[in-house]
Amino acid sequence: MAEARLIDGKAAAASLRAAVAKAAADIKAKHGFQPGLAAVLVGEDPASQVYVKSKGKASIEAGLKSIEHRLPASTGESQLLDLVARLNADPEVDGILVQLPLPKQIDPQHVIDSLDPAKDVDGFHAANVGRLWSGGKSLVPCTPYGCLLLLRQTLGNLAGLNAVVLGRSNIVGKPMAALLLAESCTVTIAHSKSRDLKAISRQADILVAAVGKPEMVKGDWIKLGATVIDVGINRIATPDGKGKLVGDVAFAEASQVAGAITPVPGGVGPMTIACLLRNTLLASCRRRGLAEPAI
Ligand code: NAP
Repeated sequence: MAEARLIDGKAAAASLRAAVAKAAADIKAKHGFQPGLAAVLVGEDPASQVYVKSKGKASIEAGLKSIEHRLPASTGESQLLDLVARLNADPEVDGILVQLPLPKQIDPQHVIDSLDPAKDVDGFHAANVGRLWSGGKSLVPCTPYGCLLLLRQTLGNLAGLNAVVLGRSNIVGKPMAALLLAESCTVTIAHSKSRDLKAISRQADILVAAVGKPEMVKGDWIKLGATVIDVGINRIATPDGKGKLVGDVAFAEASQVAGAITPVPGGVGPMTIACLLRNTLLASCRRRGLAEPAI
């Protein structure tokens, strides 16, 4: 079989960001406001600093208002909850994201529970999770929604396909499964206690890997012609000492079997921020009773 088609997440993300920018410009022209995204960073985790910076930059490029709150690593839970309460009440703030992980003295679940669900652009609040599973209108977690957009772009109608999701986190695996079920896929969720992951994976027309284990999914785990979405971002050592990023899928061998596959980097990653911008825009329209742009 020919080598798998590469699913270009960078290009898909660029076109979604352009659509958000156009919709934001229309909103500004018609209604005179900019959707506002408030990002809260507690502590100095280097990866989190990079994420928050790039989310702020992408917001500004899309014509959204970016508001950043940086708090020291010693911040107590009640201080953070006070800030979230202020952002919930601030009419200029349409979306709130609290960058995870949080320092150990803060329970992330308390913070998620304290968010106004209408501003929960990460889609982690129980109200949004419940609406997602029950088929209501919700703010959907950004990474799995980005995966869904890539799957729709690659396959069109997903109804009836066998989808296997490797990983059951609240951030990726579970919402991914909910989204695929809503597309009428037959969905299997596998995890670290699942038996014979290879046999389960080989049933998949759509295989989504979100386990955080470098190159765990081998070529012979993949059904011929399947579509493979690799969510994993893992840094591994290289002889030159620089290290490199790999996904959860052994890309070179998987490409020989799959019909289409996302690369790492350049696949799912760029979609996550683009979907965050989209969620902020949608949240701003819903909160203010405006018609939602079709993006
Ligand atoms: P997580 O919270 O650590 O969850 C990992 C999941 O994988 C768990 O459900 C775990 O099972 C399962 N798992 C772990 N080892 C396994 C194994 N050997 N066999 C089968 N299942 C196994 O991770 P996450 O937040 O979902 O992230 C997953 C990966 O995606 C990471 O590499 C992360 O960096 C990446 N990620 C990328 C983006 C992006 O924007 N591209 C966004 C988020 C995450 P149990 O539940 O049984 O423990």
